[in-house]
Amino acid sequence: MISFFGKKNNEAKPAAEPEEKQGFFSRMRDAVTRTRESFSTRINDLVAMTREVDEAALEDLEAALLTSDIGVQTTTEILDALRERAKRQAIDGGAELKQLLKEQLLVILEAPATQHAMPAEPPRVTFLVGVNGTGKTTTSGKLAAWLRDQNRSVLLCAADTFRAAAIEQLEVWAARSGVEMIKTRQGGDPAAVLYDATSAAKARKVDEVLVDTAGRLHTKSGLMDELEKMRRTAAKLHEVLLVLDATTGQNGLQQARQFTQAAGVTGIVLTKLDGTAKGGIAVAIARELKLPVRFVGVGEQMGDLLEFDPAAFVDALLG
Ligand code: GDP
Repeated sequence: MISFFGKKNNEAKPAAEPEEKQGFFSRMRDAVTRTRESFSTRINDLVAMTREVDEAALEDLEAALLTSDIGVQTTTEILDALRERAKRQAIDGGAELKQLLKEQLLVILEAPATQHAMPAEPPRVTFLVGVNGTGKTTTSGKLAAWLRDQNRSVLLCAADTFRAAAIEQLEVWAARSGVEMIKTRQGGDPAAVLYDATSAAKARKVDEVLVDTAGRLHTKSGLMDELEKMRRTAAKLHEVLLVLDATTGQNGLQQARQFTQAAGVTGIVLTKLDGTAKGGIAVAIARELKLPVRFVGVGEQMGDLLEFDPAAFVDALLG
């Protein structure tokens, strides 16, 4: 697995215990329970009933993929590849069809190249962007705790000066995860607080600055301009993580598509995976936005953020 630091996880953390791994897999499995229930059950029925992979079997598979919000475009592509394969050499029954499907999903999820710009000098600056309510503030707090667990020092920057209570909410997360936070008053200039945060991080040699930004729609040009100003302020901007609510499925994807162009997004955090049967959206993101899913949110607590692992995800979905 490639980590957030661009190293193989086993290089970064050689001491990863099998138990810890086990915990990770079972948490991923739990998180996609609802998606698996609707998706995998249909596919397993199909596998059990299919001796010969014919057009009817492929159409059943197509319907199953569409219900999990993998999307028309991605589903069509997967089906075309399987159909081609079936034409060239017979697919030997449902079990092989499922195996080929898993391989297809994995290829799609692993395709987006992940940028791992690690600055020569700390801090690394990561923006969390997205529309209101997707989980930006919560994810900022969880990510701070996750990075702390990786022995990285973290500074939180409360740059959502727009939404009432966002600063207080982030303050609670900062206290919980035991990291410092730089803030200004509500309505203050987010670029100024960002400048303060990066200066403080530089002076204190802090590894990571996480910037919680105001929720915005790509259509709100004032707020997008503000984001652009912040991007210029953070001359050393290294990651822009778009926080996307998995429960919004294909609608969220549409929003993300436009957002990605406007905000220079480098990766996705897919939140609320625990509360949806639309987990297939992760596949659509990789295929259609050509962006890596970096983390998934699997609950409301501090530890409910998992680094995304395509193989674990596919196994959890279809295992
Ligand atoms: P923001 O407006 O983007 O900053 O969104 P918030 O961080 O305030 O989150 C909005 C709501 O979503 C809150 O009630 C969070 O507890 C909830 N939330 C965020 N991430 C997750 C997640 O991964 N799973 C679940 N179940 N809820 C989440």
